[in-house]
Amino acid sequence: MIISITMNPSVDISYPMEEFTLDTVNRVKNVTKTAGGKGLNVARVLHQTKAEVLASGMIGGHLGEFIETELEKEGIQHHFFAINGQSRNCIAILHEKKQTEILEQGPVITEEEAEHFLKFFEQLIEQADLLTFSGSLPAGLSDDYYAKLIHLCNKKNKDVILDCSGKALQEVLSKKDKPLLIKPNKEELAALIGKPVQISVGELKNILSSSLFDDIEWVVVSMGKNGAFAKHRNTFYQVTIPKIGVINPVGSGDATIAGFAQSLANYQSDETILKHGNALGMLNAQEKITGRVNMQNYHNLVDQIKVTQV
Ligand code: ADP
Repeated sequence: MIISITMNPSVDISYPMEEFTLDTVNRVKNVTKTAGGKGLNVARVLHQTKAEVLASGMIGGHLGEFIETELEKEGIQHHFFAINGQSRNCIAILHEKKQTEILEQGPVITEEEAEHFLKFFEQLIEQADLLTFSGSLPAGLSDDYYAKLIHLCNKKNKDVILDCSGKALQEVLSKKDKPLLIKPNKEELAALIGKPVQISVGELKNILSSSLFDDIEWVVVSMGKNGAFAKHRNTFYQVTIPKIGVINPVGSGDATIAGFAQSLANYQSDETILKHGNALGMLNAQEKITGRVNMQNYHNLVDQIKVTQV
C-alpha cells in the first residue's frame, strides 16, 4: 500500500466570476468546494490508476470532516490524525482569465500534537510499502519535521518520496536520513541552488551532481511541457514528451509523484518509472479538474514519451 501524507490539507473553494471588483460586493453562483492539498491529489491519481492508497496527515474541525467526507465519496481510504485547530480554506477567484488566490495559513499545530503525530505515524507506516510527503508544513511544526518523519521511515526500511520546497526541503537535504526520490520543478531547483536554471543537459547534469543531492537515489527535475530530467544514482536521463493540448496543468506535479510512487513500489525499470510519472502528469494537464486523469489516453501518451540516457 502507498500512504500519501498531506500535513496541511484544505477545502479548495473556486469562485468563477465574469468580473471581480475590489472594494464592493461580488456575487458568485457556481461555487465548487473540494478536498485539496498536494497529497490528496497524489492519492486521487493513485486511486484512478487502481493502486492501493491511503490518505493521511493532520486535519481538524468541520472542514477536516468535510475533507474526509469528500474522500469517502471518491472511495479513497483515509486515516488522519485529528488536531484541535481547524483545517483551512483556500479560495481561488477565477475572473477575466486571471486567477486570484487567497490561501489561509491554516491551523497552528501545538508541541503536544507534533509529538503525538510522530507516535501515530510510527504505527501508520507499518502498513506502507512506500510513502509520499507532499506540500508545505502547517505552522507550529519545525522546519525539520519532514526530516523527522523520514528518519522514522528509514528505521523501518520504508521508502519515501518527498515533494516539498523551501526550508523543509533544505532541512532534509542537510540531514543523514534521505528520501528515495525528490522532484523539484525548475523554479524549486533554482531556489535550492540560489540561481536560475538553464534547461541544458550539461547544466542539469552539473547541478544534480552537486553534493547537495548526495545519497538521494532519485532526483527528478520536472519541467512542465519540456518533460523532465532525472538522475538515478550515477545515471542521467532526459525525458522528452510530445506536445499536447493542455487544459489545466495545476496538480501535474502531484500526478507525476503518484506515477513515480506506483512504479517504484512495484520495482519497475528506470524507463517505466519515468514514463509512468510523466504520462500521469500529462494526463492531469489535459483535464479541467485537478487530480483527474483519463486512463483511456494513457497508452497513447506513454508510447510517445522518450527516455534517453545522457
Ligand atoms: P509541478 O506541477 O510540480 O510544477 P510540472 O509542471 O513540471 O510540475 O509538471 C509535472 C509533469 O507533468 C511534467 O514533467 C510533464 O510530464 C507534465 N506536464 C506538466 N505541464 C505540462 C504541459 N504544459 N504540457 C505537457 N506536459 C505537462
